[in-house]
Amino acid sequence: MGRPELAIVPALGKAPRSPVSPSQTAALAMVERRLDYDFSRVRVDTPANFAPTAPRVLQRQPAPPPPGLDPDDQKTVDAAQREAAKFKCNVAPILFGILRKHFPDDVRKVAGAGCEEALPGLRTEFSATDPKDPKVKRSVPMIYAGKAFIASTDAAHLKDRIADVDSQIQAIDDWRLANFLIDAKDLANPKISGQVRSMSPGQLIDYKNKSKDGEVQRYAESLLTFSTPVQPGSAVDPLTNNMLLTVNNVHITIQPDVHGAKVQGGETDASFELNPRDIPPFNTDAAGKVKDFPGYNPTGNLTIVSSYETGVSPSATSDYGRGTTKEDIANKATALRVHEGSHGEDFIEFVRTHPLPVFTGKNGDTKTVFDKATKDFLTALSDWNKQLQAVKKTTDCVGKTIDEAHKGEKGWKKVCP
Ligand SMILES: [Zn+2]
Repeated sequence: MGRPELAIVPALGKAPRSPVSPSQTAALAMVERRLDYDFSRVRVDTPANFAPTAPRVLQRQPAPPPPGLDPDDQKTVDAAQREAAKFKCNVAPILFGILRKHFPDDVRKVAGAGCEEALPGLRTEFSATDPKDPKVKRSVPMIYAGKAFIASTDAAHLKDRIADVDSQIQAIDDWRLANFLIDAKDLANPKISGQVRSMSPGQLIDYKNKSKDGEVQRYAESLLTFSTPVQPGSAVDPLTNNMLLTVNNVHITIQPDVHGAKVQGGETDASFELNPRDIPPFNTDAAGKVKDFPGYNPTGNLTIVSSYETGVSPSATSDYGRGTTKEDIANKATALRVHEGSHGEDFIEFVRTHPLPVFTGKNGDTKTVFDKATKDFLTALSDWNKQLQAVKKTTDCVGKTIDEAHKGEKGWKKVCP
């Protein structure tokens, strides 16, 4: 009779309007076909000073194209140089060429492209009302470009033009966030989700109420309860208010955040146990081989909870680890909630990438073989749990590390490698 005991593993936009000319309409139709993009709601502004003039000679040294320009980029550069040579304010194909190639996830956020010939670089129009005629509503945001931008979109400077577009995208993202316009796709972008995760409870309630995107509402609402962001495939159990999901045979329970806990600042722990806990009993036959063993394919239960010290808000600034990395700071993802939720995400990711050990003992095994299977399983399980706990370092040992934060503290034991 063997009945090995398994320990519960303890605990982590301006220009006078003029009608769109037939040539522009034709050009737009062409662009639409080429871009599979509806420009019908986009008005192309033609500045008055944009009567056809002889193209200026650009004071630039022709730069030889660097070898191996991507074919899509080459098309954009060629279109830009053709347009610059005979400028007709047809900037959309160039802007959208860059957008589609380099910002595929952001194209949806741009309502259209506009032209202002004398514009030195790019600008984005966020006002839906035309300043000259408040009755005219336009789609926003629209990115405006002028001749300078188009002329300098050449092989040698494409990188800079991509950076120019990037800065407009960033301004668009900020505008979307501030106006409750982010969508479910934005939640996968840490530059946006990081800011949502750093919001105060009041801001989250506002976001939940004012957003028109169901998934965004759910995301914001969930953060009011759980520091760990809402997980794909999860559901909140109405009885316990726990967030539940199953990953790789492990039932994960994320409990609502605890406030007023006896912790320093914040803490996120994970506790793990097997279900059933024990390897079932068996008998041995006359030859000493295992019989009557019902098999053992346990599932795991992982419980994750974030706790906050009395008086400490999840939107307080994180002192170390996640929340303090260069990327987090750039993303404005600096709140303690980001840190604690990152622990939760790390634990879940661990379970996703580390399947539970499998018990190989079976009927017909000699006692020796079965005992070895038991020993191997327990060792593998213990290692699995040690690795699970060590995953805390992923969040604590980046940016300003937990050790740096506690430097000089009496009795502090170094945590990070
Ligand atoms: Zn931590």
